[in-house]
Amino acid sequence: MGGYKNHIIASLLLVVLVSWVLMKIGFTADFRDLVFCVILSVTYSLLPDLDIPTSRIRRLTSRLLLTSSLSCLILVIQKTNITLLLICLASTLLLYFFWSLRHRGFLHTLHWAFIMSLPLGFFNLTWFLFAFTGYFSHLLVDRQII
Ligand SMILES: [Zn+2]
Repeated sequence: MGGYKNHIIASLLLVVLVSWVLMKIGFTADFRDLVFCVILSVTYSLLPDLDIPTSRIRRLTSRLLLTSSLSCLILVIQKTNITLLLICLASTLLLYFFWSLRHRGFLHTLHWAFIMSLPLGFFNLTWFLFAFTGYFSHLLVDRQII
């Protein structure tokens, strides 16, 4: 039942549910925070399909990484800079990492949803919650939970 549209719709439904629960327990947020959390949740709802070579998120991410890698490589050749070199290497390694992924492997697990969302929790607990909600909604739609 996958498909990026279904994942976006599922994440939006879960965002509404989580927002409603948060409001019931007294959480308040301004409009900008809420919009950011919705964008975060929708983005995270698409991340598990990075393991599908033909998925939109994979194609977009691969193009960004390839562009980043080549741009940094050209800049490193023109002007030696260790930061640019590290960005080039990281982008290239991530591209290589994507090629080795198996569909519905570890990216489609609950503990990976937690690991992917956790860094946001160091900045803002609400960001973590909405990122996890988006990732979780993807797993629900793909029936990777239970
Ligand atoms: Zn999936």
